[in-house]
Amino acid sequence: MARLDGVVFDCSCDIHWIQLWQQRGDAALHTQQLFCRNGASKIPLHNMYIHNCDLPEISVSHSSVLVMEGDNVTVSCNGSGAPVPEVDWTVSGLHSINTHLSDVYWPNIHSITLTLFNISREDNNFQLTCIAENVVGMTNSSIQLNVQFPPVILRLVEPEQRLDTCIEFTVRGYPHPKLRWFYKQKEIQHNDYIRTDMDFYQDYLEGCLTFQNPTHINNGNYTLEASNALGTVTKTVYGHFLMDPDEIDPPPDDNPSRPDEDTFGVTIAVGLAGFACVLLLVLFVLINKYGRRSKFGMKGFAYLCAVAVVAEERADLGAEQVLQLLTSLFSLVRVQVSVRLGADQRSRQVAGLNAVVQHIKRRDIILKRELGEGAFGKVFLAECYNLSPTKDKMLVAVKTLKDPNLSARKDFQREAELLTNLQHDHIVKFYGVCVDGDPLIMVFEYMKHGDLNKFLRAHGPDAMILVDGQPLQSNGELGLSQMLHIATQIASGMVYLASQHFVHRDLATRNCLVGNGLLVKIGDFGMSRDIYSSDYYRVGGHTMLPIRWMPPESIMYRKFSTESDVWSFGVILWEIFTYGKQPWFQLGNNEVIECITQGRVLERPRICPKEVYDIMLGCWQREPQQRLNIKDIQKVLFAMGKATPVYLDILG
Ligand code: AMP
Repeated sequence: MARLDGVVFDCSCDIHWIQLWQQRGDAALHTQQLFCRNGASKIPLHNMYIHNCDLPEISVSHSSVLVMEGDNVTVSCNGSGAPVPEVDWTVSGLHSINTHLSDVYWPNIHSITLTLFNISREDNNFQLTCIAENVVGMTNSSIQLNVQFPPVILRLVEPEQRLDTCIEFTVRGYPHPKLRWFYKQKEIQHNDYIRTDMDFYQDYLEGCLTFQNPTHINNGNYTLEASNALGTVTKTVYGHFLMDPDEIDPPPDDNPSRPDEDTFGVTIAVGLAGFACVLLLVLFVLINKYGRRSKFGMKGFAYLCAVAVVAEERADLGAEQVLQLLTSLFSLVRVQVSVRLGADQRSRQVAGLNAVVQHIKRRDIILKRELGEGAFGKVFLAECYNLSPTKDKMLVAVKTLKDPNLSARKDFQREAELLTNLQHDHIVKFYGVCVDGDPLIMVFEYMKHGDLNKFLRAHGPDAMILVDGQPLQSNGELGLSQMLHIATQIASGMVYLASQHFVHRDLATRNCLVGNGLLVKIGDFGMSRDIYSSDYYRVGGHTMLPIRWMPPESIMYRKFSTESDVWSFGVILWEIFTYGKQPWFQLGNNEVIECITQGRVLERPRICPKEVYDIMLGCWQREPQQRLNIKDIQKVLFAMGKATPVYLDILG
């Protein structure tokens, strides 16, 4: 509350805004006595009439415009009043960057036209806002851009055998495309067994062709067709749900046998198994003798011997089937070993193998403006030439590393190799590095709405309050379905990371990025510690730990695993449902450590449904093995999202 009680002003148009605030009751000015000097006396400010001093009026040429991608459009805005206002269009965040402004001043009107050339689909739903401002204050008015473009199928995911009951897709187009599915040249008619579930987010359509208990009968090619008035596209994916039982164990009659070859094959396979059995026995004895625990252990030994026994007993098994048994045994062992790798180490090496990092030339990168700052260095919005085969230039985000020492250079190289190998729809796209000269640069896809934490705060109830010292205009609060959509996408990225045995260790909303159409991606792999330094806790030397996102075993024993990432995901859910609050914001770092290690968990956010809080609690089980599995979490969240009405009112 401003304390101006009793102040006597030299009243002129310059302070009319205070009079207006007082009339509206802003900043509690209506409870205070303010005055204007009037010769030797004074009169109350609210009685003052100031000539030629009004809030500007504003009018725009359209309430919305409908254009085709690639077209040009001109819109105009008139600001009138006394004093004549300054008028301007806000175009920041607009992708159709070729804009042209022209001003005309009439006696009491300031008119400004804006021409956008070669309009991009990224500007569909963009609100072009015109602002008129004079000393009294500011008024604004907006025009909604609706950009039409033909459909594209961005994603059509082959279902994972045995696990998935849906074919996931993401389609874009405006007007919204109509979708049809084809199987064996026939259009699929939806029924109790097959149906399409989908959500709309602006010009994005995301969903699933969902099957009820699919079997091998459903295996085959599925073609998705998306069409709107501007075009039609199709894409086909193979749906492999279950093996045909006949393929697994063909009845003897159907199996035209080649007895000699088979017997020979079985002999080799059994021989192999037997040999491996002996070899393992020797190994096992040696390992036991020298007192080291075998990772392969008795289990592996028993599996192999079991294969040999089965092969001997089942004379009806073909050579291929015996070899299949052997192969599955070895893959089982491989999985066991890699799971250990993921759990025990910072599993960067998994993705670090055979990376071919793309090199980008410095002259192809044109910096435009700063986006933020991380521990590595500044992050800029830039234009990058010769990156895409279809576009001459594109917007990218570049991360810079200034004056690196040798170890920082090595970290940089390792990070780049890692990022090159991580490719998923919900992991930020990494294009490559620029290492000819200084600073070293990493080039990423540009995510228009920046980091998720800032985004949540900007779309929460406190959105009009200053964020980072900047007054953010309220963009409307996020609704439940949008929160679930955000969470589902992060979970989806995590399912992928887990499948790569990659343990992130620092999952939090500050490390996720938001793009167009509420697209969310995991966007940072260890580079964001500076701006959010209060989220980290320094433990001796340089180590900074995000303790508020860490489970007890990570805090106490520095043990990180896919399960500790699941714990952090629970905290991400909490952040989403509190519009970006800091977990345990009311406590200092030492108190947080005490709370978490003693088993206390975060409280249910006010707007969080019980079902979602139950997921959080499932992520915060003390025993890592008891925590929910990220794949199940993703599925449950996706299903909840589908059951929740969609609000389309936010986001440009
Ligand atoms: P980081 O170094 O990743 O912590 O990035 C610092 C800040 O830069 C983030 O908080 C974002 O606001 C911004 N930023 C980073 N990467 C991107 C990106 N790919 N697109 C847009 N903004 C980004």
